[in-house]
Amino acid sequence: YNKSNISLVRTLKTKNGEKIVEVFKSPIIDISGEVIGIVCTMRDVTEVKNQEAKIKKMAYTDSLTGLANRRGLYNYVESQLVKKYADVTIMFMDLDNFKSLNDSFGHQHGDRILIEFGEDLQTICKNGFVSRIGGDEFVIVWEGKMNKELATEMAEKILNLLSGKKRKFNKLSASIGIVTGNTEEDTIDNFLTKGDLALYKAKDQGKNQYVFYNRDLDKKRCLNEEIEQDLRNALDKDELELHYQPQYTCSKELVGLEALLRWNNDKYRKVPIVDIINIMEKSTLIDEIGKFIIKSAFSFAKKINNNREKKVIVSVNISAVQIMKHNFVRTIKKIIDETGVEPNTVGIEITETVLLQNIGENILKIKELKDIGIKISLDDFGTGYSSFSYLVKIPLSNIKIDKSFIWGMKDSEEYRTLVKLCIDTAHALNLKVVAEGVETVEDLGLLKYMKADFIQGYLFSKPLPKHIIEATVLQ
Ligand code: C2E
Ligand code: MG
Ligand code: MG
Repeated sequence: YNKSNISLVRTLKTKNGEKIVEVFKSPIIDISGEVIGIVCTMRDVTEVKNQEAKIKKMAYTDSLTGLANRRGLYNYVESQLVKKYADVTIMFMDLDNFKSLNDSFGHQHGDRILIEFGEDLQTICKNGFVSRIGGDEFVIVWEGKMNKELATEMAEKILNLLSGKKRKFNKLSASIGIVTGNTEEDTIDNFLTKGDLALYKAKDQGKNQYVFYNRDLDKKRCLNEEIEQDLRNALDKDELELHYQPQYTCSKELVGLEALLRWNNDKYRKVPIVDIINIMEKSTLIDEIGKFIIKSAFSFAKKINNNREKKVIVSVNISAVQIMKHNFVRTIKKIIDETGVEPNTVGIEITETVLLQNIGENILKIKELKDIGIKISLDDFGTGYSSFSYLVKIPLSNIKIDKSFIWGMKDSEEYRTLVKLCIDTAHALNLKVVAEGVETVEDLGLLKYMKADFIQGYLFSKPLPKHIIEATVLQ
């Protein structure tokens, strides 16, 4: 027996059930240094230990759903899986548009959805560890590497949970990022980062879907960060510029110019401008660059229409993110004042995505602009939800049929019928129709026959820099 004190916690079986006791032993040592006995004390700590366990459990539990919270997830992975060097399959999910659902139906309602969804997840992911790590973010961990088929099946089951008939809210869906790996090679933080990237990708591709993590997503992230960095300096360096693509009547009378952003930076020449705009939208860059775009286009509209009898409408693309800014209308009006442009010589192009969030508010904003004379175009009609009901809901001046529909006409009777239907419906609602991406004489012939009002496309002209527009198109 060594000569130090010892304290132990033990479970004892007693008549009244189990007790947790703390045992404290200390040696009795005689004058020569011999241990001649032990003093042993025992304290009942059952209550204390139970409280501790409760607190620990609470710290690891999400009070709303009763699932594990973020700490609980970390605890599970670190205490159960890391030691075993276990393979894992992890799914990260996030409800789509949950915030707007919460805003429109109230928090109580949102809470109920989270609780129900949590319960359903536990039911279908029987052998998985289900956790809620934040607002509408859920993470499920399975021990073992699922193969792609199995993981796909599981992800689909989860998505079906939400789209299933029993849900009263047909707009509810989720996006899922899937990662597999080994707890020896990756920390839980690494898994979370990878899952986030895959989840982000799923959102980016239109939500309500799952994406498997792969290395390319890392590369993409780095590239996007670099682009964002360089974009921050682009305005100062004078690298941003608008090109203008003419819009004509079928008999080639100039009616409008669409402003399209160009970034004169050799490094990114190959990156499609839509990707650049996506990056702007996800940062605060869209505010400043958006204003620059509107201002440049409106100044140009003022300049070219000064002595022109038949006005040429200059339109700018406006993303939903821009419209959602609380001061959007004020910004536009301010730019009109500053540039002195006639509001009826400018237009904005919006897409159906403005109806995904804050519908009522956005519609009011658009109406306010239309009322002062600004033309409103619905861009890319045919690609998004393409519900004809939108044509009534949004106060519009014209619709732009997406180029994929125009290109489809060449070899598909169905596309021809659809384009004709779009044109007729628009006309019935007193809206004009612009056909985008018109590249061939055959397309033009068909569109003329179907009574499309305006033509935009490479057949007549590509987007061109300002000075060329002035020197050629406007002459
Ligand atoms: P969009 O508004 O639908 O613009 C039309 C796109 O189709 C332009 O591509 C244009 O160059 C291209 N295009 C026009 N005619 C033809 C054709 O006959 N054949 C082919 N192959 N393409 C044609 P771009 O400039 O690359 O712009 C792509 C998208 O990026 C635009 O689609 C718009 O959604 C967005 N975008 C461009 N500039 C801006 C901007 O300043 N602000 C915002 N928010 N979005 C912008
Ligand atoms: Mg456009
Ligand atoms: Mg378009």
